[in-house]
Amino acid sequence: MDLPVPCTVALSFDQVHDIAGGDLPDMAALLKPFGDQPLLCVRPSSEDPDWGGPGAVMNVGMNDALYVDLCDRIGADAASAVYMRFVQGYAINVARLDPDMFDGLTLQGSEGLRQVLSAYEAETDEAFPQDPVVQLSGVLQSMARAWEGTTARLLRQAKGAPADAGLGLVVQAMALGLGAGECGSGVIQLVSSQTGMPMVTGRYRSQSQGRDALQKEGTSIYLAKDPRGPSLEELAPAAFAQLIDYTAMMRVRLREEMQTEFTIENGKVHVLDGVRIRRSPRAAVRIAVALAEDGIIPKEEAILRVEPRALTEMLHRQVDPDAPREVIARGIAASPGAASGKIVFSSAAAQAAASRDERCVLIRRETSPEDIRGMHVAVAVLTERGGITSHAAVIGRGLGLPCVVGASDISLNLRRNTVTMADGRVLREGDEITVDGTSGVVLLGAPPLLESARDDAFQALMTWADDFRDIGVRANADTPADAQIARNFDAQGIGLCRTEHMFFDAGRLTVMREMIFAAEPADRRAALEQLLPMQRADFVELFRIMEGHPVCIRLLDPPLHEFLPSDKEGIRSLADALDLPVSDVAHRIEELGEHNPMLGLRGVRLGITMPEIYDMQARAIFEAVLEAGGGVVPEIMIPLVSARREVELVKTRIEAVAAAVRTASGRKFDYRLGVMVETPRAALRAGEIAPHAAFLSFGTNDLTQMTYGLSRDDAGRFMRTYVQQGVFPEDPFHILDYDGVGELLQIGAKRGRDARKDLVLSICGEHGGNPESIEFCRRAGFDYVSCSPFRVPVARLAAAQLAVRERLNSAN
Ligand code: PEP
Ligand code: MG
Repeated sequence: MDLPVPCTVALSFDQVHDIAGGDLPDMAALLKPFGDQPLLCVRPSSEDPDWGGPGAVMNVGMNDALYVDLCDRIGADAASAVYMRFVQGYAINVARLDPDMFDGLTLQGSEGLRQVLSAYEAETDEAFPQDPVVQLSGVLQSMARAWEGTTARLLRQAKGAPADAGLGLVVQAMALGLGAGECGSGVIQLVSSQTGMPMVTGRYRSQSQGRDALQKEGTSIYLAKDPRGPSLEELAPAAFAQLIDYTAMMRVRLREEMQTEFTIENGKVHVLDGVRIRRSPRAAVRIAVALAEDGIIPKEEAILRVEPRALTEMLHRQVDPDAPREVIARGIAASPGAASGKIVFSSAAAQAAASRDERCVLIRRETSPEDIRGMHVAVAVLTERGGITSHAAVIGRGLGLPCVVGASDISLNLRRNTVTMADGRVLREGDEITVDGTSGVVLLGAPPLLESARDDAFQALMTWADDFRDIGVRANADTPADAQIARNFDAQGIGLCRTEHMFFDAGRLTVMREMIFAAEPADRRAALEQLLPMQRADFVELFRIMEGHPVCIRLLDPPLHEFLPSDKEGIRSLADALDLPVSDVAHRIEELGEHNPMLGLRGVRLGITMPEIYDMQARAIFEAVLEAGGGVVPEIMIPLVSARREVELVKTRIEAVAAAVRTASGRKFDYRLGVMVETPRAALRAGEIAPHAAFLSFGTNDLTQMTYGLSRDDAGRFMRTYVQQGVFPEDPFHILDYDGVGELLQIGAKRGRDARKDLVLSICGEHGGNPESIEFCRRAGFDYVSCSPFRVPVARLAAAQLAVRERLNSAN
């Protein structure tokens, strides 16, 4: 590229791997290009700089002879500083001596150098090695071994690196950055790592080496002219202009936004390194879009360059700045976003909460790899200890999970499951708090949250993704708020609206309970009459928000006793409301109790035994269609089907309701009736069910539960042991079990389609938003996936990547 790079020799991933194992390359040959008195720098060059790795080691080759020479060139003080720095770095990183050994050695210049060399000698009983071969061998080995060490490997794996990720090393002649004329070093990049917006970013420091300019203390200056202080642009305008050109050229030639590490030696620019710039997810999107818009990479590649899961982070929520707030702890803002949930103190408790569909905040002293499972299901994490690179922070960012670490003013009592806040207030498991990982504060309760902003680059990338994507993406949305988020993220409809959540409002719950308590169908119908207008209003609102996009409404699913009170106080107030003796109410509640409610009277079984409930819901849906207008075609979904006859019975009644509404209103409307496949039998018998259903939607939560015979409410208790011991590779409630549950999906899809060519297939369990599940469903010929609203962009991008990759593979 005709860049002014000092003489450089690169060592490949394989060579570095061999070096870590003790097999050094031919050192004489390696050193030959650098002359008799080499002064070198060794730089890491890993597959992905975001995965971390050892820092560069400078001034390798520094010895007594070169010191004399350097004293002439740059003066004794600067030469001593260079030598001292190398001896210290070598002692700590190569000879593995205790860094404390240099504490208290305060002398500078040649005196200081003598002191440091004697300290080294005293500690090792050897003189500091003078031979460049010995020095370089030691440096290469220490860097290679640091990369292959367990801690480094685990850290980068947490960032998504494969187990065998490679490290290259680059041996380069030092461009000193010290001496006469304008000398110094710095780094430059042309966009912001935070936002990806054009902005000359970096620092320069005269008479410095490596990345010194980036350190806070000292005399670094700005690069471009800046009202806050002096700049390289003013100090050395020609060098500044060259650096801009080189960095811009690298962007075009390397097809990537680069950071240039440079040295200026007596006014002359040396480019030492070009590294793919670090970037936040927001910046990653903007950089990829800008590269495509500038014609440097095709749009397909821009789509592939953004990690779908990273979008979650840029789409994070914030605490409404205008809302009242009660700060109860402060710490380090480790991973952005805000979330509210109930406190849990262990991963097991987090998993148990998640299986009850409860949002939880995991509080730990600090986290370790054992906590990853709990973090996966928590909505936020708070730790007492740790910094910005602690385990909790790294993993939290990776997962896009709001996270505050190092909140040292809180105090955990893990025996009692309590946490004492700075003001002495004690919170218990189950208390609600909000973690704001953007500002590093913890708030009491659940203040209103603002949805994230979406910028133009995000919109552009999403539009391109939609052009390539060949599987639909809908959202699971139960409330108008969810539906609005889904629309904002361009979901192509609602794939699952769970109607039970609509009955938990205070005003409705009592009527719902009256309905449940009704002894006769007529009484039940009377209670349902009251629920009808409320339910109709719910649907009108959803239809209006979704503006003609399909809305798939699931008929009532949970066992009825879930709506009943379980404590004395609740039973007493229900007895009041129903004007019944407490003992009658308690008795009825007991009657409704089941040994195995998830396998009991729920889903379509309710629809068969108490058909008035589904009649009311169907009527509410149809009347809402007429009220909302605009050609809405609702989809009605029957849950927990296991037999064809269930579908026939429900279908007949729904057809009757539709006919009645059409006659009463004198207006026409269409609807589609479908079946939720969430029992293994429904998947196996899809061939006989499909003729009665316009669509099949696989509910992989229940299907996983029933395929494994594994309670989704209780699995958290032993899931960790199971995964640790390799019984399951992953928690199947999080990552779809392709082998077992997946086979049922394939069987259901094939038998269903064989029986009915135009059958629409989808997935609406929690797995629907996982890029891996999307791949599976796409291959099985599904029409769409449905996932929680915030995962819609992730799913859209993941789906586009699959289509692009397939196209690229078939072109090769
Ligand atoms: C399912 O079972 O996958 C599903 C989507 O329904 P729910 O989680 O409401 O049981
Ligand atoms: Mg279900």
